[in-house]
Amino acid sequence: MSKIVFFCIPAHGHTNPTLGVVKELVGRGHQVWYYSYNMMREKIESAGAVFVSCDDYDMEQKLAPEDAPRVGKDLAFSTKILVDTTLALDDQVCIDMEQMKPDCIVADSMAVWGKAVAMKLGIPFVSSTTTFAFNQYSAKVMKQSVGDLFKMMFSMPKISKDIKRLQDKGYPVKSVLDIIQNDDNTHTVVYTSPEFQPCSETFSDKYAFVGPSIRPAESEIEKTKDKLVYISMGTVNNDMLSLYKQFIAVFAKTDYQVIMSVGSLVPMEKFGEMPENISVFPSVDQIAVLQKADVFISHCGMNSVNESLYFSVPLIMLPQTPEQGGVATRVSLLGAGIKLEKTDAESILDAVKNVLTTDSYKENAAAIGDGFKRCSGAKGAADKILSVCENK
Ligand code: UDP
Repeated sequence: MSKIVFFCIPAHGHTNPTLGVVKELVGRGHQVWYYSYNMMREKIESAGAVFVSCDDYDMEQKLAPEDAPRVGKDLAFSTKILVDTTLALDDQVCIDMEQMKPDCIVADSMAVWGKAVAMKLGIPFVSSTTTFAFNQYSAKVMKQSVGDLFKMMFSMPKISKDIKRLQDKGYPVKSVLDIIQNDDNTHTVVYTSPEFQPCSETFSDKYAFVGPSIRPAESEIEKTKDKLVYISMGTVNNDMLSLYKQFIAVFAKTDYQVIMSVGSLVPMEKFGEMPENISVFPSVDQIAVLQKADVFISHCGMNSVNESLYFSVPLIMLPQTPEQGGVATRVSLLGAGIKLEKTDAESILDAVKNVLTTDSYKENAAAIGDGFKRCSGAKGAADKILSVCENK
């Protein structure tokens, strides 16, 4: 029996893909501890792991869900989170790890404190990447913006000071790149297929492209019209009342059934009376909706896109961050959706009509979805993690 410790940030998109892996590991008789934040406790415990809350130790820097998109994008901010969180957790996690003696630490690529602890204590490490894997080739496809690079350069002295705080506590890091970058020697589980990952042939065999782990639907959606349009801007940056109102105004005049998930930041009473073909919810069973949907208007979070393609649903894409922009670029390139440049009524309706009447969008989405189904999934991720445990 192996002992495995997971670390993650408080974002559903980063947590959900790991839950099937936790279940698989626990089902095979291994012990799993999972360091995360209270908002994730229930789903982590239901997957069978022992939940360890980071909220209490994270005194200096509370990482709110709305901060999650800045992690990885704004290097100074990311470094501060990394250093504050690592140091806030340092004493307790090091005591826990000395007692538990885990065979392996699995940390989300943005929960870099997990990797830092593994480096400090010499524990075998697996990176868990819920977005595309990153190297010089895939970075080109992801199109990192020039603004981000400038931000990085201006914040360098501040970053060195933060790194020194880690070194003083015994962390063997020379630069922030040691922690945030996964080189070809880092064991890495990537939750997409080799076909969908840009330039997958340029990654070493330490990378396992296991495909998305799609959870089962928990309910059934009734299809009331010929075509069902699903809209969601994800679970993090979804405070977009005027955009939602625009969708309602545009689709009220159509014969499409529309289901829109708007998150918990927008008060539901702001929507008033709804046209009979449109339903709005703070959250939906997205898997159940995608099983029936004909098109998904999405912010292009990696999980939403994976889930959409898995069910052969083409996308209309409104990316909000460079990472989502990279995913949208990939989907456009593979012909499984259209990037929406403007959100006026005509642009939205044209895009929806185009996707619904041009068979290739659905066919290309289905081809990527078939690739996902050929992947090894949660079983493959568990195999990868256990192979690292065995070879420690
Ligand atoms: N999700 C859901 N119901 C909703 C909206 C989202 O179950 O109403 C799930 C969705 O299935 C996906 C995750 O939340 O697994 C969102 O992850 P994604 O990476 O797409 O975006 P993020 O929320 O991290 O921006």
